[in-house]
Amino acid sequence: MAAAVAINGNASSGDWEGRYYHVDQILDRPGPRTDPSFLAGDEVKDFLRNKCKILVIGAGGLGCEILANLALSGFKDIHVIDMDTIDISNLNRQFLFRQKDVGHSKANVAAEFIMNRVPGVKVTPYFGKIQDKDEDYYLQFNLVICGLDSVEARRWINATLVNMVDPENPESLKPLIDGGTEGFKGQARVILPTVTSCYECSLDMLNKPTAFPICTIANTPRLPEHCIEWASVLEWPRVHGDKKMDTDNPEHIQWLYQIALHRAQEFKIEGVTYSLTQGVVKNIIPAIASTNAIIAASCCNEAFKIATSSAAYLNNYFMLIGTDGVYSYTFEHEKRDDCPVCGGESLDITLSKDWTVERLIEILVERQDIQVKKPSLSSPGKQIYFQAPPQLEEATRPNLEKKVSELVADGGEITVTATTLPFNLSLRVKYT
Ligand SMILES: [Zn+2]
Repeated sequence: MAAAVAINGNASSGDWEGRYYHVDQILDRPGPRTDPSFLAGDEVKDFLRNKCKILVIGAGGLGCEILANLALSGFKDIHVIDMDTIDISNLNRQFLFRQKDVGHSKANVAAEFIMNRVPGVKVTPYFGKIQDKDEDYYLQFNLVICGLDSVEARRWINATLVNMVDPENPESLKPLIDGGTEGFKGQARVILPTVTSCYECSLDMLNKPTAFPICTIANTPRLPEHCIEWASVLEWPRVHGDKKMDTDNPEHIQWLYQIALHRAQEFKIEGVTYSLTQGVVKNIIPAIASTNAIIAASCCNEAFKIATSSAAYLNNYFMLIGTDGVYSYTFEHEKRDDCPVCGGESLDITLSKDWTVERLIEILVERQDIQVKKPSLSSPGKQIYFQAPPQLEEATRPNLEKKVSELVADGGEITVTATTLPFNLSLRVKYT
């Protein structure tokens, strides 16, 4: 590569310039499909290499790939956030980590590795939670890429970036590129907060709810996961009292497995295994290095295109399904008018006049498009039910048995809040 640069007479600006010779084939001249705003040549290279600041959220399976791809394609000011430490089971796919790194911060080790491997790239790590940072922090970036395995964290960053958009200030709109994988499946999407559909808009597309309603677990299990949840959520505390369950302790998992298996046989449900038990209680999502590589690469290509305008970017959802041959599909996921994050309208909910507050809470917990745990409810000027603090819970507890129709008029509004919900959800109630 260095030789090629020398032939072209471009080697003067330093050795590291030669590293990007092949990338520059894209940036040096417009092509038939480049965006009209594309400024070929030095200006775009200067932006990518000296001005563009990109944030990577997650330094795990996807994050390692994303960091390497970004550094190798010319991003030079990269920040990375991850709250996890390196586990031995990460080493098969999180290739920036070695045996000696086990127990250390993923963000710190990944940053160090990339900087050693790609001179001239600065990676600034933060070992902690995304929720530790405020708007001012997120405002400094041009782009955000997520490689997360947590729905909750995604919802939080999505809501934060949507709320940050100030129509008076175009700089406040930060494109969010989100990648996710599960086994042989994955998706990559481009979210332009307030412009395109957001993460919350598509919540109902997730395969399985992350929490099962307690009444299903207790009374009407249908899935092996329901039996495992029954063992861990209800039977463990009943039998063991205050003794804390340790999901890393094989004896504890074995106990849960036996209890869940017994329950499954009782209800004629198949599929409870030791590894599924471990997967459910530790919330393990199967991960394959190659699927991560495909999805991370797609995300980074989109980041490169958005940062440089060198080609049209994804609009807006790419799905990869590798469970039955290879199938991929790209479509425009549409905004939901009643999206609680980016839509302006409140969510209509139809209730029977006889339904109690307790019933409403159960319905909210079960709804796939809302996904809320332990919601608190209020209506303008009135507390309906609060999960915390304890005094308020006690004071509002009698309302659980009351009919919603006694507390809120037809067409009235209920505000739903929860610690897991990074925004207030507004419901418009109608009675049948
Ligand atoms: Zn939305």
